[in-house]
Amino acid sequence: VIGAGYMGLQAAETLRTHGASVTIFEAEHEILGRRDPALTDALRRHLERFHIDLQLGVRVESVEPGMVAGRPCDIVILAAGVQPNVEIAAEAGIELGRTGAIRVSDRMETNLSGIYAAGDCVETTHLVTGRPVYMPLGTTANKTGRVAGANAAGRRERFPGVAGTMIVRVCGLGVGITGLSEWQARKEGLDPVSASIESFDKPRYFFGERVWVSLVADRRSGRLVGGTVLGSQATAGSINVIATAVTNRMRVEDLEHLDLAYSPPYAQVWDPILIAARQLSKNF
Ligand SMILES: Cc1cc2nc3c(=O)[nH]c(=O)nc-3n(C[C@H](O)[C@H](O)[C@H](O)COP(=O)(O)OP(=O)(O)OC[C@H]3O[C@@H](n4cnc5c(N)ncnc54)[C@H](O)[C@@H]3O)c2cc1C
Repeated sequence: VIGAGYMGLQAAETLRTHGASVTIFEAEHEILGRRDPALTDALRRHLERFHIDLQLGVRVESVEPGMVAGRPCDIVILAAGVQPNVEIAAEAGIELGRTGAIRVSDRMETNLSGIYAAGDCVETTHLVTGRPVYMPLGTTANKTGRVAGANAAGRRERFPGVAGTMIVRVCGLGVGITGLSEWQARKEGLDPVSASIESFDKPRYFFGERVWVSLVADRRSGRLVGGTVLGSQATAGSINVIATAVTNRMRVEDLEHLDLAYSPPYAQVWDPILIAARQLSKNF
């Protein structure tokens, strides 16, 4: 598999599940593009347990018949990133943004009046940074498509942007991401402070499974700017709570007291997000 983004990781899992011997070649020294060494380490260890060989820092220059990066192979999956398909739009005089995708207003209108664009060919606004971002996902494609269609048909709807929320299963492990990593926050001129905790999604007597939560906040404003969750079925619910907090610019001290549900078959009395928020507030 070439590329350790979310598609490469999913491809690796599927091939391994079907009994293939799998190697992932990744040009960068990290996984999922967040420059988050803890996330990369956790996923590397997890992949090792499934006997998937992760080769970081290996840029594949060519694929020969039956051979890739000096190793024999039967199948090559190229998952080295997505580029927006904008040729026709550009030829028609539609402006592209800095990301290379089509620039649109929050009504999904291009620079040509009455021409709307949506989905994987457009850039949107990152809700934390306020800057244009290219994040081609099915969630965004559906929402931008709806807004573009509504406006083209005469209604007035707007698409505010994305927090960068995604979830992927890597060999049974749920990996949820939203907002900015510490490195991304620093690059945006913020003063990031972070915390990581390990807990269980349910009490152990209800067969709770391990969950890891990392949160990133801005020291100056006290606001939550990102988070990562690794876990089982509870990953989606947890990352969605964090995404809601990031989107609404919630302060860590408020997150710490969020009234989250508890009952042993479903949750812990101290939800892992609350434990992480408490740890984060100590790190300020
Ligand atoms: C393997 C895989 C797994 C994914 N998993 C997830 C996931 O779990 N969660 C998530 O949020 N997103 C996921 N995505 C991303 C998601 O599928 C895309 O973001 C979404 O489909 C984009 O929708 P779209 O309508 O913009 O483009 P597409 O779904 O790509 O549709 C564009 C269509 O336009 C057609 N087309 C292109 N050019 C022309 C032309 N000149 N004339 C006529 N037709 C043309 C194409 O053939 C295509 O059918 C995944 C993508 C892949 C590939």
